[in-house]
Amino acid sequence: MDVLQLDVSGRPQAWISAREAAVLYASDGVAWTLGEACQVLRGGIQRTTGRQSRIAVHPIVAVRGAIPSRAWRQVPALSNPKLFARDRLVCAYCGGRFHFDELTREHIVPTSRGGDDSWMNCITACRACNGRKGNRLPEEARMTLMYLPYVPSLHEDMILRGRRILADQMDFLLASVPRSSRLHG
Ligand SMILES: [Zn+2]
Repeated sequence: MDVLQLDVSGRPQAWISAREAAVLYASDGVAWTLGEACQVLRGGIQRTTGRQSRIAVHPIVAVRGAIPSRAWRQVPALSNPKLFARDRLVCAYCGGRFHFDELTREHIVPTSRGGDDSWMNCITACRACNGRKGNRLPEEARMTLMYLPYVPSLHEDMILRGRRILADQMDFLLASVPRSSRLHG
């Protein structure tokens, strides 16, 4: 399982392994936790007691320390897996749902014509639609977007990046995702 790491104010920071979380517990780096403990890791033998230490890891841990001020303003990095997840594996032009390998990152305004490689100018398209649109604007190609691009919030970004998200973690993250997000659909 992966543990959702927050800063002390509750902003998501990263997915970490249970073992990385255990290191935070052991070094007194955890400020607070959410959810029921979901994994118990065994540590070393304590010399004084002769007993093996045990660390119960929670699904969500907030770490002590200062909050990096730039973290909140940062736009999540764009990647194909996250783009396709944002768009729920649906081609924006034909509306078909495809396997990951059959999808492409489509620039609404082509990069050769000044379009940038950003969340707002990128959309998920199947190979056929991407090829058909080519180096044109959607209106030039007479192709209509079936849904619109948007920039994911930090909470949404964590969902897009997560591999196996536990119910406690999903509840926490979704509570801060705007209702307009496709992740609620
Ligand atoms: Zn398509």
